[in-house]
Amino acid sequence: MYSKDEIVVCKKSKLEIQNIFNQGIIDRDDLKILKHPRRILCANYPIIKDNGEQEIITAFRVLYNNNLGPGKGGIRFHPSVDLDEVSELAFIMSLKTALVDLPFGGAKGGIRIDPKEFSKTELEKISRGYVREFCKYFGPQIDVPAPDVNTTPEIMGWMIDEYNKITGENTKAFITGKTIENGGSEGRDKSTAMGGFYILQEEYKEIQDKLKLKVAIQGFGNAGSVMANLLQAEGYTVVAVSDSSTAIYNERGLDIEDVFNYVYGGDKKQRLIGYSNAKQISNEELLELDVDILVPAALGGVITIQNVKNIKAKNILELANGPITVEAEHVLEEKNIQVIPDLLANAGGVIVSYFEWDQNLKEEHWSLEDVNNKLKDRIITAYKKVLEVAGKESLSLRKAAYKIAIQKINKK
Ligand code: GLU
Repeated sequence: MYSKDEIVVCKKSKLEIQNIFNQGIIDRDDLKILKHPRRILCANYPIIKDNGEQEIITAFRVLYNNNLGPGKGGIRFHPSVDLDEVSELAFIMSLKTALVDLPFGGAKGGIRIDPKEFSKTELEKISRGYVREFCKYFGPQIDVPAPDVNTTPEIMGWMIDEYNKITGENTKAFITGKTIENGGSEGRDKSTAMGGFYILQEEYKEIQDKLKLKVAIQGFGNAGSVMANLLQAEGYTVVAVSDSSTAIYNERGLDIEDVFNYVYGGDKKQRLIGYSNAKQISNEELLELDVDILVPAALGGVITIQNVKNIKAKNILELANGPITVEAEHVLEEKNIQVIPDLLANAGGVIVSYFEWDQNLKEEHWSLEDVNNKLKDRIITAYKKVLEVAGKESLSLRKAAYKIAIQKINKK
């Protein structure tokens, strides 16, 4: 569809890859294979809105690399979705699946909409339309989508139904992140946070009194809210959480159960701006708090060259994809702030997606305990490997993770 010269995508990743090539961490062949996405799909398709008007929906799917197996990666619904972002995220997925040793390549999809502006019926039409547009490029052995920002098990359900209608198949392994009734896996809903949580538990295993560890979490959606609950249950002090409306703060620790009930307890999800049991601060202030662990769990590009000088956290766990810009990361390195990179920190989601796909193909259903044990095993193995390479070669955790993943993709 596009020639490799016509289209410029992944400016950020290319910069990073070029940097690590310049430092001799990877060789020229590694560089070549990851310079361009394997396949880019773009569609503008119409849906009829509830008021009878027609709306054109812009959507993308990028398969970045499939050396290790079918493409794998979520589909996000967000107004800022564009080809560059989707390609960037597909690139990260390629590294992520390789790093945690899954038989998958990397892909990502996106629809440029603000889901809050559409009714449920309209969202269903948008989701089904997406599958119709790209159907022949999906399949359990070709490219397997999943949820991402603003997409849910219910949306996965509409998509699989459409896929099976069009293809006449009855496969469950076309998509992951489904409800349990639809063939989903136990533990998939909490898996992104759970993976990051296992890493933190391993990192701080020497610290008996977790109350001493102060945590700030940016984002209170699927990943951020589950992480807040898990950490508080283990005794960590979660001092701040946020959503797009505001951040809330209590230096002695928030009552996460109360916050969770406020946001998710009613018929409709509530915004934190209406929560009155804690002090309100801005999202910017949350990022700059003096905490032991900062968890960006919302969107990309939130720690930038503008605010990085004010970051005081000792450790940053990237539960979101791409929350730190390349320039900001250099400054964090100079300031000796550790970053546990996205391709490791949030790999729990795709790991359990793999379990779901595997269970679907084998027509099995594993217990929650089984899923969580397998998840812990796989993510901690990857974490230890990253620590080992980083230690041996004096690399940041991200560079070490990149090196391991890229070498695996190139089957070295
Ligand atoms: N969207 C998640 C991610 O960025 C999960 C992808 C998947 O399960 O395929 O890792």
